[in-house]
Amino acid sequence: MSWESSAEYYRLLNEEVRRRLGGHHCARSLMLTVDFAEIEAMQRAGEWEAAGRLLAGAAGTLQRGGAEMVLLCTNTMHRVAAEIEAAIEVPFLHIVDATAERIAAAGLTAVGLLGTRFTMETDFYRDRMRGHGIELLVPDGPGRTLVHDVIYQELTRNRVEEASRQAYRRIIGDLAARGAQGVILGCTEITLLVGPADSPVPVFDSTRIHVERAVDLALAGAPEPGGRRLSESGR
Ligand code: GLU
Repeated sequence: MSWESSAEYYRLLNEEVRRRLGGHHCARSLMLTVDFAEIEAMQRAGEWEAAGRLLAGAAGTLQRGGAEMVLLCTNTMHRVAAEIEAAIEVPFLHIVDATAERIAAAGLTAVGLLGTRFTMETDFYRDRMRGHGIELLVPDGPGRTLVHDVIYQELTRNRVEEASRQAYRRIIGDLAARGAQGVILGCTEITLLVGPADSPVPVFDSTRIHVERAVDLALAGAPEPGGRRLSESGR
């Protein structure tokens, strides 16, 4: 939900469409940017229902604006994915499903998860991954605090610090030593800090994977619940 990761989504979406279609192609898209201060305050206060209502309203606005598919550009707020899905008729592409499919395709069954405290410590992410046959390992208590604090104190404030990169590398190394076959960058800003070169095991960047899956579906004209294909809807 921070603009730092929204900008990353926007860039990756357009780069991916250009890579696949060439020429001057880019992704027809609408972006609705919420005020992250408002969302962050709701997260801290545990006001998930209110946040769900706010995001469901935003998704409805996108649909009325002509969106044929909706992406929620954060892992954490997928905690309220059901409220969003209930508010729209067009497909909603869940970030955990896209990421899990990629992990399963790589033949992995146990991976580490880096994300906010809300993502690492509540069940919504773990349960959905388990539905795909994937078990998650999370950092220990101090590790989770560090990962969370770097997201909120640095990455969502447009700061990328070398000391934090080194700390994340250590935490990823610990997860691998505990048996993680890969690691999920399960927060959409983490890709700004670390990548495959910082990990001894394969990295699954939820931001990039979410975008790539969205482009797959959009270009394939994924069927809508009403039976129409995206490319035929004329909206
Ligand atoms: N973008 C982060 C995530 O993917 C956390 C901040 C937010 O809620 O957007 O979980």
